Amino acid sequence: MNNAFSKSILWFLSLLMSYSALGQSDLLTTAEKTNYESTSTYNDVMVFADELQKTSPYIRLESFATSAEGRNIPLWIIANPLPVSPANLVNDNRIVVYIQANIHAGEVEGKEAVQMLARDFLKNPKQDIFKNVILLICPILNADGNEKFSKQNRTNQVGPVNGVGVRYNGQYLDLNRDAMKLETPEITGVVTQIFNRWDPAITVDCHTTNGSYHEEPVTFTWMMNPNGDRNLINFMRDDMMPAVHNHLRDDYNTENLFYGEFIDRLIPDSGWISYASEPRYLVNYVGVRNRLAILNENYVYADFKTRVVGSYNLLRSILDYAAMNKNKIRNLLEKADNRMIRRNDAAIASDSFAIQYEGRPTPEMITIKAIEADTIPGIKGYWRYKQSDRHRTVTVPYIADYYPTKNVVIPYAYLINVPDKEVLENLRKHGIDVGELSEMRTLEVEKFTIDNLSAESRLNQGHYTNTIKGEFKKEVKEFVVGTYIIRTNQRLGHLASYLLEPQSDDGLLLWNFFDKYLVPQWGEGYNPYPVYKLLDKKEIPSIPVK
Ligand SMILES: [Zn+2]
Repeated sequence: MNNAFSKSILWFLSLLMSYSALGQSDLLTTAEKTNYESTSTYNDVMVFADELQKTSPYIRLESFATSAEGRNIPLWIIANPLPVSPANLVNDNRIVVYIQANIHAGEVEGKEAVQMLARDFLKNPKQDIFKNVILLICPILNADGNEKFSKQNRTNQVGPVNGVGVRYNGQYLDLNRDAMKLETPEITGVVTQIFNRWDPAITVDCHTTNGSYHEEPVTFTWMMNPNGDRNLINFMRDDMMPAVHNHLRDDYNTENLFYGEFIDRLIPDSGWISYASEPRYLVNYVGVRNRLAILNENYVYADFKTRVVGSYNLLRSILDYAAMNKNKIRNLLEKADNRMIRRNDAAIASDSFAIQYEGRPTPEMITIKAIEADTIPGIKGYWRYKQSDRHRTVTVPYIADYYPTKNVVIPYAYLINVPDKEVLENLRKHGIDVGELSEMRTLEVEKFTIDNLSAESRLNQGHYTNTIKGEFKKEVKEFVVGTYIIRTNQRLGHLASYLLEPQSDDGLLLWNFFDKYLVPQWGEGYNPYPVYKLLDKKEIPSIPVK
């Protein structure tokens, strides 16, 4: 019996004892009350939280956004003692863990699991985890989507039988594609009110899978965009995620697997891949901010109760690990921050931003209890898949390690010479430090000249996203008072590059923020991209910025 396991037993015993003492024992989630036939409405979640607060001084209820349809998006702060505000955390040696559920409102077990987690945590405010962790929970991020309950949503999902909500929010946007452009109140709230204010060391985002067939009810993976700090990605890959995997299997009796799908759904031996690597996905976005993030994807073909309990056990495993390894995590994040802030001390030649990258196998193969798929005829000539009864354990490469294949140099600073309030607002919402030139200056910079700009023919999240071709050229250029200047030796320097590099696969140019500046009214060709790169280090100290 290992240490974590004995802690779990102690926790369970204390839970049993406290059941009779506290009113919380009567408090059940909608899923529990209905024998897992239903999931909570927005009102159910809000009432549950009010009841929790009546029984415990260790939870505070806040709201961090208002949805398009006018619902307050809840944030639960759970800690002993409760911090008055994030400003009080400077000398607090606990770490902040943020768990959010229901970003896709048809994928509902996280919403049930976090309610149970909050209730069970508050039953024992003396437990060890409370000494090390401040827990933030958003139980229902996509509240508007949640309220569009229908039995016709996610019909491939095994329960709850009384229906679930929809994927999109009140603006018909996917919240898990909004982390860079910040066009939804929900994700803007997560970034400005949770990430910028509370700076969670670990973020967990709860979903349900759609893809391949296997036996494990719980899957999860980590942030993987290569423009985040490589040391943090490697720490997740080699240390934290394998430890959580073992702890969840051995101490919480929950079969689990790193998230992915078979490269060829009909051939389990083809390998296992996690495709989504851009920072528009919240988990990857957190990585580009140099923080740790975990994507929880529960298996769509497991029954609802199994998914809820599995998600609950995963969250407990993550919190156990966070509490036990708090100092290691804090140290790791501090080093990553220092590398960013002090990056101008090192040679810039080695410092590059990936505009293209590819997935490679992780060092360890992955073992999957696979279920082979068969094809059946679907609508409009498409084939559909169905589970066979052929179960087969395979050990295959896991394609989840993303490495650059094409880089550009990161400058000391970016200069934006159009006074664009939407660009400025986006950068500031992310928490990026933007200064303004206080005197006119002539500087040697790199400008990006555009050879070709093409928009996708199909709208994506309300955008005809851009693809750009061109090259950087040196130019001596005059910059007027008020030019925006964004230095890259700041904590969010990677994120600034991601948003401002013209060839970035998830930047502001791609999401149409600069469209109006790029094409002249008459004539052919293009205007230069209005963001310039300063590559001369000795200019930096003398640039007058207000
Ligand atoms: Zn999802």
